[in-house]
Amino acid sequence: MSDVIEVSYTGDLLAHRRCPRAWAYEKHVGMHPYEQVQAMEGYLVHHAMEWLTTYYQEHGRKVHATRDELVEQLNRYFKILWGKGIRTTFSSRDETIERVADHLYPPPKGQPLPEVKAVVEGALHEEYPLRSVRKVVPARFGGKSRVLLTGVLDVVVQQQSALTYNRVWQWTDNENLEGTPVGGTEIAQKGDLEIWDYKGTRSSTGYLEDYVRQVVTYAALLEDRLGLPKRCVLFFVNEPDRKKRLLAVPITRAVVDSAVDWTLEQVRDLRQTVLQMQVDPLAIEGGDLRLRHLPLGDRVTDELKAQCTACGQRFDCSAYRSFLGPGKRGGEHTDVDTLNVTKN
Ligand code: SF4
Repeated sequence: MSDVIEVSYTGDLLAHRRCPRAWAYEKHVGMHPYEQVQAMEGYLVHHAMEWLTTYYQEHGRKVHATRDELVEQLNRYFKILWGKGIRTTFSSRDETIERVADHLYPPPKGQPLPEVKAVVEGALHEEYPLRSVRKVVPARFGGKSRVLLTGVLDVVVQQQSALTYNRVWQWTDNENLEGTPVGGTEIAQKGDLEIWDYKGTRSSTGYLEDYVRQVVTYAALLEDRLGLPKRCVLFFVNEPDRKKRLLAVPITRAVVDSAVDWTLEQVRDLRQTVLQMQVDPLAIEGGDLRLRHLPLGDRVTDELKAQCTACGQRFDCSAYRSFLGPGKRGGEHTDVDTLNVTKN
């Protein structure tokens, strides 16, 4: 048996923090949600940015794709995602694609935003693209002696010209990795190395602190290959308020070291869930891990609710059932009623 715990940042660590129960059943029993509602826009955003970057590289680093070309590409990719069972919530294909395109190439001009241009033009392209980063860290718990942390970087940018960030993460406690976004000014200089992470959510997301810790840990994973970046940038592509779309996260030695320690603490929690899964899977409680101290029904946040409604484990999930309460006539709530054939 391997002596190493392999942990992917988004697939394991963040998913476990959102709901240990859903993560454990998906990871260790292979029970995936029957459809992934709401994920569509996030996939389209990531694909759009990756495709725009590749397009620019393949056209001699001189020409950006037009909005029409982007829409055409998104239509192709939408079909692939649909075939994989990924769905939109309320809007049609055209509405979804137009919305993503408008966020990157806003009307009336339909030209790429300055921040889109900055990341597309500054994207570092090596012979082997910097996508997957990993690091082995010694750690002794749960019968294992090392942790292999892996992360997938959206893009590493070497700035080609100055860029001003009007929203900055201000660290208030380096050791516990706490902070808050403030309206300050941070200016990227030509040559600055940055990790950019695209988010399909709005900037007011309840997971903001987790996202900041994620990119700071990515800085630690990148360090062995390129050194520490100057800053990380969260790009909330679907944020309607342009001033809040970019969040610059300054990187220092102290926060990077704290991020690795914090991540190892999360791996320890995750390992406990795995051991519990092997002994008594029914005992793993659902709900947001950060809200473990609250009564069951209060552990489902608005963001988790969107995951719960398509979760295959919701029918006997005490957290979600408590959150929903009884149905209209005192029976099962329609969302967890196994006889509700229109939903299931
Ligand atoms: S229904 Fe919600 S709280 Fe329950 S296991 Fe699924 S995702 Fe977690």
